[in-house]
Amino acid sequence: MSDVILQSIVKRYDQTVAVDHVSLSISQGDLVALLGPSGCGKTTTLRMIGGFVDVTEGKVLVGGRDVTALPPARRNMGFGFQNYALFPHMTVAQNVAFGLEMRRVSKAETAARVGQALDRVKLAHLAERLPKQLSGGQQQRVALARALVIEPDVLLLDEPLSNLDAQLRQEMKIEIRELQRSLGITTIFVTHDQDEALSVADRVVVMRQGRIEQDGTPDEVFETP
Ligand code: ADP
Ligand code: ADP
Repeated sequence: MSDVILQSIVKRYDQTVAVDHVSLSISQGDLVALLGPSGCGKTTTLRMIGGFVDVTEGKVLVGGRDVTALPPARRNMGFGFQNYALFPHMTVAQNVAFGLEMRRVSKAETAARVGQALDRVKLAHLAERLPKQLSGGQQQRVALARALVIEPDVLLLDEPLSNLDAQLRQEMKIEIRELQRSLGITTIFVTHDQDEALSVADRVVVMRQGRIEQDGTPDEVFETP
């Protein structure tokens, strides 16, 4: 069970309130977009859910468990960064395996799980390549496989489509939706692109200046003037 509940979370930097009492309840299996202009607090919110940024106030609950004080590795979440963040000197398979390395998984199980994750994103045939030998879309899929290999309860994606050209973006939209559906994994992704949020997500949470401005299905959010 992996509902994600944010209880009035706040992130304050010296001069800035990046996130200002955000409360949100996300059900197991939902595909949610955090949408809003640059600087509105989307990435900070995502990172607080993932544990990469400490909350100043409030709580993060996952599956009923308070994870507010836990480090990222103990939250069982998959995280996909904006610019892939693949290790250039490691092969595709090694990049994906890296997600398991800190988890004391045996070599045999690592190999099996890496193979399965690469199958899911249709990259098994490129396992021994280096990232620079792949297209942008393929690199993005490696990042997705690395997030999935830990069999996360929750998938967090930061602008997963923004570095891709129009055609690849279309393909990845469909792929993310299909993966999310077939795995039933609670997924939260950040985007500044309204069309992307409306076409990919089941639910769109619009942020502005650190607060939630709107929250609803794509139809509800789109129809509000
Ligand atoms: P978004 O993802 O919506 O573009 P961010 O969450 O990155 O917004 O940033 C929200 C606000 O917090 C911005 O004003 C940004 O400058 C500020 N901010 C983000 N990270 C830091 C940081 N590490 N130190 C200081 N201010 C930050
Ligand atoms: P995004 O495009 O995902 O919103 P940014 O490019 O705004 O991310 O930020 C990149 C990194 O810089 C992040 O780690 C963020 O926390 C940090 N950052 C953003 N704004 C500030 C800031 N005003 N001061 C210090 N660090 C910041």
